[in-house]
Amino acid sequence: MAEFSFELDEEQRAVRDWVHGFAADVIRPAAAEWDEREETPWPILREAARIGLYSLDFYAQQYFDPTGLGIPVATEELFWGDAGIALSIMGTGLAAVGVLANGTEEQVGTWVPQMYGDADDVKVAAFCSSEPDAGSDVAAMRTRAVYDEAKDEWVLNGTKTWVTNGGIAHVHVVVAVVDPELGSRGHASFIVPPGTPGLSQGQKFKKHGIRASHTAEVVLDGVRVPGSCLLGGKDKLDERLARARERARTGGGERVRNAAMATFEASRPAVGAMAVGTARAAYEVALEYAKTRTQFGRPIIDNQGVAFQLADMRTRIDAARLLVWRASWMAVNGRPFTAAEGSMSKLFAGETARTVTAQAVQILGGNGFTRDYPVERMHRDAAIYTIFEGTSEIQRLVIARTLSGVHIR
Ligand SMILES: Cc1cc2nc3c(=O)[nH]c(=O)nc-3n(C[C@H](O)[C@H](O)[C@H](O)COP(=O)(O)OP(=O)(O)OC[C@H]3O[C@@H](n4cnc5c(N)ncnc54)[C@H](O)[C@@H]3O)c2cc1C
Repeated sequence: MAEFSFELDEEQRAVRDWVHGFAADVIRPAAAEWDEREETPWPILREAARIGLYSLDFYAQQYFDPTGLGIPVATEELFWGDAGIALSIMGTGLAAVGVLANGTEEQVGTWVPQMYGDADDVKVAAFCSSEPDAGSDVAAMRTRAVYDEAKDEWVLNGTKTWVTNGGIAHVHVVVAVVDPELGSRGHASFIVPPGTPGLSQGQKFKKHGIRASHTAEVVLDGVRVPGSCLLGGKDKLDERLARARERARTGGGERVRNAAMATFEASRPAVGAMAVGTARAAYEVALEYAKTRTQFGRPIIDNQGVAFQLADMRTRIDAARLLVWRASWMAVNGRPFTAAEGSMSKLFAGETARTVTAQAVQILGGNGFTRDYPVERMHRDAAIYTIFEGTSEIQRLVIARTLSGVHIR
């Protein structure tokens, strides 16, 4: 049995400190400006690419860390710097994981490097699943992919929404329906290469938070992609669809559902780590403020009413991080998520970020309500963590179904 420890090893500490340095020196000072501009912070992405932080190599190194802590540790530090800018840096990773999870070795080798570009020509990528009528209810997806056998091409039609980097991405990964009879088991993922005719950006959203991250609709109008852009390949898709049809006929399907759930359970802790980063940032500002702000002739932290809030904030943040680390470790070590521990980590960390940033605003009083202090922005940013990658309600649904075996609605 391996020795038990909560301590990061030397290499992990070095990575954490390096990412923290970038977050403190480059991201934090630029956060308010890019929040106001509501644009992708390309100069910061270029700077991150120049030092190797925004790169496939760095992401892959963290992704394959055998302890599972590479991604959560780096993510927490980046989001401690600023959530909007950090999502511009990490958003490509979410699309890359879509290819790593479903693509062949050749597809991974061809497309994932193109998603990042290089330091002289930085690129971003997008993962397009959500639609106007298919958010939490993924099975309601309508975007169709139809195979044109004569040309060995797939033709995509539909509208995606809420896409991080949508329309500005070099490579788009698009999930579409190939067999409408099979619900979410009839979906497949496609690469849309750069410059493909028919793909365009729709509305760009003006958001409440994470405003430095670009979010937009993606319209697919007769988009034709080569057969080689179907992730996993046609033979694998045909086999999968045949199995799904057989299960639909015989009433099975549990194994397929479990495989899809395992993928989500493995990716959700990364979003939990984002939330921990934002919560920790707001807590630190509030702690410092409470020690220096004087009212009634003493620092406000001298009051239990303030000090106990800070105690609760820190306790929740540490608990959230432990849930995130546990789920990340489980994912890498192939442990079964028998209590939906990945969803648990995202649920608790997301709710923690919302609560802690609201408490930070309260502790800063009037100053907390202004854009002169960063907790106002952090509070707006934190709202996303209970919405994207499955809302808090959907996480509770997944946890409750997993625990009970009952298909709770
Ligand atoms: C900034 C941002 C970035 C995003 N980036 C991406 C991206 O890159 N790619 C992508 O594909 N998507 C992305 N999304 C989409 C995101 O994943 C969806 O917004 C999310 O899944 C919720 O879907 P919805 O907005 O349609 O809400 P709805 O599904 O309409 O939910 C509305 C409310 O109803 C509740 N609800 C729904 N069903 C149930 C139920 N069965 N039980 C209890 N409550 C329920 C929800 O919890 C929520 O509170 C992004 C969203 C945002 C805001």
